[in-house]
Amino acid sequence: MAYSYEAPVSQSLFDRASVVTPGGVNSPVRAFRAVGGTPRFMVSGTGPYLTDADRREYVDLVCSWGPMILGHSHPEVIAAVQDAVSRGTSFGTPGEGEVALAEEIVARIEPVEQVRLVSSGTEATMSAIRLARGFTGRAKVVKFAGCYHGHVDALLAAAGSGVATFGLPDTPGVTGATAGDTVVLPYNDLDAVRAAFAAHPGEIACVITEASPGNMGVVPPADGFNAGLKELCAANGALYISDEVMTGFRTSKAGWYGVDGVRPDLMTFGKVMGGGFPAAAFGGRGDVMAHLAPAGPVYQAGTLSGNPVATAAGLAQLRLLDDAAYAKIDAVSAELRSLVGDALTKEGVAHTVSAASNMFSVFFTDRPVRDYEDAKKQDVFRFTAFFHSMLEQGVYLPPSAFESWFVSTAHDERAVERIAAALPAAARAASEATA
Ligand code: PLP
Repeated sequence: MAYSYEAPVSQSLFDRASVVTPGGVNSPVRAFRAVGGTPRFMVSGTGPYLTDADRREYVDLVCSWGPMILGHSHPEVIAAVQDAVSRGTSFGTPGEGEVALAEEIVARIEPVEQVRLVSSGTEATMSAIRLARGFTGRAKVVKFAGCYHGHVDALLAAAGSGVATFGLPDTPGVTGATAGDTVVLPYNDLDAVRAAFAAHPGEIACVITEASPGNMGVVPPADGFNAGLKELCAANGALYISDEVMTGFRTSKAGWYGVDGVRPDLMTFGKVMGGGFPAAAFGGRGDVMAHLAPAGPVYQAGTLSGNPVATAAGLAQLRLLDDAAYAKIDAVSAELRSLVGDALTKEGVAHTVSAASNMFSVFFTDRPVRDYEDAKKQDVFRFTAFFHSMLEQGVYLPPSAFESWFVSTAHDERAVERIAAALPAAARAASEATA
């Protein structure tokens, strides 16, 4: 497909990148392969806007895939980073910043009695699973199709996000033995979970689920699903791990736990808590966390864990996220959902705007989407046309139909107006698209 607009500087950077980096990117979805065209190389971000290497400005609805919940270059976050940097960038010793960040997390999220800081969401879920296995002495892990928990070997089976975007059933490099301990079930299906516990008595260490999935598009848990998981885990001696890397500190002050109140044994966090830097965490029940080295025998470590610059950024961001901030994000999200829905309805495009608190995405189908199989049945080619029309008009959406859209406190009236102005043509492009 040819596009009517060009991005020559981004294209030349992409050409250079493709020589020295596989596929030209450091994380697959950034390459635009699902939608085609030239990935935009961004040079700066301010508030709700990004500017690319061709000096074009976009309203950003990706927000770095979630972290930038206050918008780009928030002055107080930048000041905290500058202050931290002026004192050094890494010490490899404990520091007060990491204590303060851990205290903030524990204070906000009641089931988290203790927390360990790491550098990425992948590390957080990988470590939580190791801990669950070490604690229970069991090997098997239950996960759900379409849930993405980072590129942990054991969790890549039927994962969402980039794996969904590229339609990879599995990935080479994950051994049969590793995959053999992973039980993949359809999302929102408690009977399947019951059957798995019956089929593997005394073998399942944990059930891990996205607290509210955003990596197959946004597919919230059905009423009672998370509570049912918790109950089944408790009845069968397994741990219930809620992955809040995406929802944590975004869907409410206490993340998705603040929405559904189901108490996990372990939780994982990332994205928002790092303020745009590599900081993530896992935490939960004190008796489980006590099994972690050096308090206990389950090993886990990191050269840059609790990095002073990352923790300063994360702490500054979390401290700014008060009730008013969440009210603002919720309101902007609701307004955008209704604008997008109206524009698509006007053009007769079959769609479902799916939301979980302020996270949302658009499925190009009017059939209900309850799991990954439903999500895959949408008209992806309509998303592609919609995406490129929005991009051309200066609105940056996630370059995949299987990702959540994100807004920030910085998405003000002007930003919303720019999105609203772009929607009619994008909806028309979606309606005129052919498979
Ligand atoms: N878990 C969830 C729910 C995620 O959405 C992601 C990333 O998108 C991860 C884990 C992995 O986090 P990271 O990309 O920081 O490794």
